[in-house]
Parts: sequence; C-alpha cells; structure tokens
Amino acid sequence: MIYLDSAATTAVRRDVLEAMWPYLTGDFGNPSSHHGLGESAAAALADARGRIAAVLGCRASEVVFTSGGTEGDNLAIKGIALASPRGRHIVTTTIEHQAVLEACDYLVRFHGFEVARLGVDADGLVDLDEVAEAIRPDTTLVTVMYANNEVGSIQPIGQIVAIAHELGVPVHTDAVQAAGALDLDVTRLGVDAMTISGHKLGAPKGVGALFVRGRIPLEPLMHGGGQERGRRSGTENVAGAVGLATALELATRAIDPSLVQTRDRLIAAVLGTVPGARLTGHPSARLPGNASFTFAGTSGEAVLLELERRGILCSSGSACAAGSDEPSHVLLAMGLDPALAQTAVRFTIADGLSPAELDEVTDAVRDSVAAVQQLTW
Ligand code: PLP
Repeated sequence: MIYLDSAATTAVRRDVLEAMWPYLTGDFGNPSSHHGLGESAAAALADARGRIAAVLGCRASEVVFTSGGTEGDNLAIKGIALASPRGRHIVTTTIEHQAVLEACDYLVRFHGFEVARLGVDADGLVDLDEVAEAIRPDTTLVTVMYANNEVGSIQPIGQIVAIAHELGVPVHTDAVQAAGALDLDVTRLGVDAMTISGHKLGAPKGVGALFVRGRIPLEPLMHGGGQERGRRSGTENVAGAVGLATALELATRAIDPSLVQTRDRLIAAVLGTVPGARLTGHPSARLPGNASFTFAGTSGEAVLLELERRGILCSSGSACAAGSDEPSHVLLAMGLDPALAQTAVRFTIADGLSPAELDEVTDAVRDSVAAVQQLTW
C-alpha cells in the first residue's frame, strides 16, 4: 500500500508515542492536583507548552491547547469576534475549511455579524487589493488560511497581515495544513492567532493548539474549571500535549527539501502520461507534499476506488467534508466547472516516494483514469 493522504491524517510517529506513553500510564496525574503526580503532569504540560512556543516563536502563555483544528478555528474566530469587537464584521475567504466557514456562519446567524467572503483566482490565491477593500471600520477580524487543504495553495499571509494591521484589524490563520511544512514563526508571519492540529503531523487525533497573542481578548467557548488561563476549561490532555510538542518539533526539524522535487516529479509524470489530467492549485506556491488534479471524463470517487484496488490511498478532495457528494467549494471558488470539479483527486505525500514508487503511482493513476473513462463513455 502507498499512502498518499497525509493531508487527511497521519500515523502517530513512534517517537511521539514513546514521549506520550508515561503520561498515559504511570505518570497519569491531573495537572490541577496538588500532589506529586499532579505536579509531574503540570510540569509535563508546561514543558510541552514551552516547546510549542519555541517553534511558533511566541510566549508559552500564548499557547492554548485544544482538541484539534476545528476547535482552534472556532475558538479563534468566535472567541476574538465576541470578546471585544470593533464591530460585527469579519473578512475571510471562500476557500476556508468548514471549521472557519461554519464558525463565521454561526456569528452571522446568532450574533448579527456580517462576513465578507473573498474569492480567489484560478490558482486559489486571494487578491491583496480585495483584502484591503473588504476591511471596514467595524471589521473585527480577518481570517485567511495559510495553505489550502485541497489544492495546497499558499496564501501571502505576511502581506495580508501588513494590510490588516495598517487598518488596526487582527489576523487569524488556519495553519493546520501548513504546520510541519512551512515557517510557523508567528513573529515573522505577524499573525495574531494561528490554529494547528496534531494529527496532520504525526501526533494523535484530538489534540491541537491555538496561538493567541497576549494582548488579544478571547471569549472562551468552554466554561468550567478555568484551565488554560480560563481560555479553554476542561482537564488538559497531558499526553496529547506532549505528543503535539514532540511531533511539531520533529516535523519542523525534519522539513524535507526533497519533498518539493518528489511532488513536482509526480505532477510532471501524471500530467505527461494521463490524458485529460490538469493540475489544480498554484503551480509553485503550494504545499510541498500536495499534488492535486482533475481528470476530465471521470468521477473522482470512481478513480479513488480504482486507485485503492491498485494499492494507492488518496482522496477526492477534503476528507473533512465527510460523505459529501457536492463538488468542492474550493474548486468552484477557483472557477472550475462543477462537472470537472467532481473529477478531483488529491495526492498528499508526507514521507517522500522512491523512484519505483513514483512509477507505480503514475502507472496506477494512468490505468485507473483509463478504466473510469471507459466506464463513463
Ligand atoms: N483546517 C484545515 C485546513 C484542515 O485541513 C482540517 C482538517 O483536515 C481542519 C481545519 C480540522 O482539523 P481537525 O481535524 O483537527 O479538527
């Protein structure tokens, strides 16, 4: 089996599991307990927070542990918007993950917010002039994803931050797909809030972190025991936090420069051998491990099944919109015809591909697409 769906999730790395193990077994204390076992858990949590802060280039107090990307996005958007709004207006894009889109919709439905959803060009990039034009005196937050989960396009976050800050508006970015692949230093990026999720980087599902700049007020979504300085109540997932810190350090340390070459070789091989193949997303400003295509005259879901029969696991777009038959909102926003958008297939590589594997994948894609094209005709 060749697993090319790392944007959906990754296996827990052995080093990560080993780092977590003590806090799932002998050292199982509650960090709020006033005894040795509790203090040991609190120390592990503090250490994990410090290590994540070191990767993000922020203060440890600016890291809030969450249950993952969905919670981080919700906490950032609702939490910042509801805490001290300059007004009830948010700027975002049409290609965000559902966690962002739905959090914004919630603010519209229940709190009277208005949302400007910026379109993207054919490569999936937002227009900086449109960002500037969309910001109003009552805009309380700009939220734009760092890199797209379906097509991999990387947004010019630093420039978006410069525009928003000039107008006094904080910026959140969903860095769930960027984490482990791109620079996450929040000082260099300038963002005020950033979401990451463990299971995209070799940590378990159900743990993540939200960076929120110290001076940004944040209304909590979870009320209770006041953990995480009152920003996220609930007994902390100590082992998860340790796993996230370890995975983030390993992924950041081991950003593999050859992944871009592997990706580009796969893109070239598929475009060169598969009739009707077309790349989606930006040709170069894209995540190092993302190769995504449309295959005219097929159905993406049918191609996936054919690929799986040949031992290749990938995705028809976003695994997060589970069970949805709708064409991808991202591809539609990029101007693709809905029928073509239904033919999308995404390959996401985490650990490289040997030349033999690259050939195997290319052959499987060519044969799978041909098999489905025959069925469709
Ligand atoms: N944001 C993006 C860009 C994602 O790709 C995902 C998951 O695929 C999420 C948010 C949600 O993260 P989680 O699965 O940790 O809730």
